[in-house]
Amino acid sequence: MTQFREAVIDLGAVQANVAHLRSLIGTRHTMAVVKANGYGHGAVPVARAALAGGADWLGVADIDEALALRAAGIDAPVLAWLHGPDADFAAAITADIDLGLSSALQVRQVAAVANTLGRPASVQIKLETGLNRNGVDESDWAEVLGLAAAFERVGRLRVRGLFSHLANTSPDDDLAAIASFGRGLEAATAAGLTIDLAHLASTAAALRLPAARYSMVRLGIGIYGQSPFSDADAADLGLTAAMTLRGRVAAVRRVVAGAGVSYDYLWRATVDTTLALVPLGYADGVPRQAMNAARVAINGTQYPVVGRVAMDQFLVDVGADPVAVGDVVVLFGDAAAGVPTAAEWGAAAGTINYDIVTRVGARVPRRYVGPDALTAADTAGAEAAAADDTGSAPPETPRP
Ligand SMILES: *Cc1c(COP(=O)(O)O)cnc(C)c1O
Repeated sequence: MTQFREAVIDLGAVQANVAHLRSLIGTRHTMAVVKANGYGHGAVPVARAALAGGADWLGVADIDEALALRAAGIDAPVLAWLHGPDADFAAAITADIDLGLSSALQVRQVAAVANTLGRPASVQIKLETGLNRNGVDESDWAEVLGLAAAFERVGRLRVRGLFSHLANTSPDDDLAAIASFGRGLEAATAAGLTIDLAHLASTAAALRLPAARYSMVRLGIGIYGQSPFSDADAADLGLTAAMTLRGRVAAVRRVVAGAGVSYDYLWRATVDTTLALVPLGYADGVPRQAMNAARVAINGTQYPVVGRVAMDQFLVDVGADPVAVGDVVVLFGDAAAGVPTAAEWGAAAGTINYDIVTRVGARVPRRYVGPDALTAADTAGAEAAAADDTGSAPPETPRP
């Protein structure tokens, strides 16, 4: 039964999306990117589903995210690539987490920790090829790769991979980055390294830029059934949206023409109409910017969001239709179900589908559906989360 508010996560869709992308891309290795709580879907269940779909690596931003996968019993290879000055490299090495390293300092730090632990650290060197985030600058490649090779020879490091990340700005910019990455691979060979894993492409380049595929691709948005492109939707790519954000209509009210609706009266009824109250707000990740632009589906019909989105709730104009308290309201899900998509919410809010799914708040219980083998491990946690949801709206409060 549909909860008061819930994000239903179809793990079968994640598994099928990974298998489908793998069949299109055909690289030897496939990394499923499950950073940021699996783009809001739940990192551990998504990781299991992606591995079932044929992924053989998992990618996260920081070490804490990687350790959470290990704590859940996931023993697949994991790469973590974003570290602060106090990063716990010892915990990562002990948990068999590959470290993406972006500087000579990080290479020295990790080698020192590995020495203390008496075991080599498995590392992958991140090269700067045009994005200008982290990564070793081309002018430092010889030094850093040479240093890594020296530590490898004395058993402190195992340099398993070389990687970078594209800006997705234009084909020309990405081809320049590919050329740069090629020089990086040559520099690694010149430094005496044998690179097993070379990877540059996330979902977009994995699909459209075969030259960026190398031995592994890092697939994020695509495994969640969302398109990285503005000119192709998920269905065009053969993907199924894994997340459906939905709830139950909490109140229904008739208003007369001229009535102002929600804070600041930024929408007024032009005719007598019916409003349905949806119990999700910006605390749950519903963007305030979607006011008067996004749509929801109730009983198979799509209706516009009207007036300000509040912290816990917003209104939709259902006209003369017979909508009742308790009816299921779907904010977004898979287009094949006749409901709005996360991409449409992104367009309505001046953002992207990545942001819409990832921002779904902690108050929204995740409920996992799909093959028993995938959902069994998560049912207990989801039920506990659902039990925490009291099913009643917080009292109407003054302007938050
Ligand atoms: C997030 C991320 C990805 C995944 O990108 P998608 O566009 O979601 O496929 C891949 N690589 C790195 C370094 C990332 O930060």
